[in-house]
Amino acid sequence: MIKFHYQCSQCGRKFDITPELMLCPDCSRNQKPDEPLRGVLEVKLSGRLHCQLKVSDMLPVAAEYFPMIPVGNTPLWRSAELNRSLDFPNLYLKDDTHNLTGSLKDRASYLVAAFARREKINEVVLASTGNAGSSMAGIGAAAGLNVTLFLPETAPQAKMVQALQYGARVIPVKGNYDRAFDLSLEYSRKHNLLSRNTAYNPLTIEGKKTVALEIYHQLERAPDFIFVPTGDGVILGGVYKGFRDLKKLNIISEIPTIVAVQSEGSDAIARAFETGKFTPVAAKTVADSIAVDIPRNGYYALKQLQQYNGRCLTVSDDAILSAQKELSSVAGLFAEPAAAAAYAGFLKMKAELPTDSTVVLLITGSGLKDIDAAMTKIEFPSKSITSLEELE
Ligand SMILES: *Cc1c(COP(=O)(O)O)cnc(C)c1O
Repeated sequence: MIKFHYQCSQCGRKFDITPELMLCPDCSRNQKPDEPLRGVLEVKLSGRLHCQLKVSDMLPVAAEYFPMIPVGNTPLWRSAELNRSLDFPNLYLKDDTHNLTGSLKDRASYLVAAFARREKINEVVLASTGNAGSSMAGIGAAAGLNVTLFLPETAPQAKMVQALQYGARVIPVKGNYDRAFDLSLEYSRKHNLLSRNTAYNPLTIEGKKTVALEIYHQLERAPDFIFVPTGDGVILGGVYKGFRDLKKLNIISEIPTIVAVQSEGSDAIARAFETGKFTPVAAKTVADSIAVDIPRNGYYALKQLQQYNGRCLTVSDDAILSAQKELSSVAGLFAEPAAAAAYAGFLKMKAELPTDSTVVLLITGSGLKDIDAAMTKIEFPSKSITSLEELE
């Protein structure tokens, strides 16, 4: 049997896993306003696996509390067309657009929802750039939870429509995601509600690790490289966590090289990787899901990248949109811009990668979530016809 506890990613202090605890009380005391969260907690495993590895055995909430809905177990596949055109046979797509609400965020929402059910909590609050909100709304609906969502008024409409469709209470915020984040925290503290804010709730990192466990299962080994679109750095932290857990249980011997891909217009983690410190950026990119001024999981993400020789890349909006179009038209996979950034990052780094290496792109969200972005690289048919003669 495996046991679980929280441990501060900064000072190492250990805690029980309880709904009241979000950040390390010691380290978060030194929080300054314009920097990543201090005292982010990590779920630690102890003990040993006695039988074959199952993903559910490696999560801190027992399987019985998870709603019976399709989250995770997404396809990992190779597009013959894409691989041939790139002359790169072992490029894999981990297609997380297949999750219930269309993004990888469901992995975090799923664990948070299971935890809420175990703790008999019936309301969850969060801020989101869009996907975390629509995800918690959908998973929450399926799990019988009430969801309150603080959303920047500039979020893509489809994401807001999704959240409303699922029945969440949506509160549009004048201002950016960072403002929504602060307001939602104030609200959840004031009303003593469970927050699903990314990085702040440690289970958001832990939930996302399942993507790494699945990749290991599907390939029957760890890949050489994984390209991870990165904003707050929670997916990045989760991917590292999954492989670190596998290493801790002696299932793999090496952590793969993880490549954090950021937009040039939202590159706080890539910059900190160069300079060693975080300075807030005014994020501006077409890839709304990776647009953040202050990466909430910045310190933790940076530490992992440094410790395991990760890499950081930035790609332009134009490269992201071209990659999005190419992935759609060659592989048949329509990804949202943030997800296509993983492919754009791969294209940028391809010349450096051994052609026989095994590479996984994390395709984190569906293109239908933001059709305005996708419209920039397509040509709309100019007129409608009434008969076939007009076509000829
Ligand atoms: C949230 C999100 C990301 C980035 O994840 P972070 O944890 O913020 O780094 C990437 N792609 C999509 C589609 C997302 O929704």
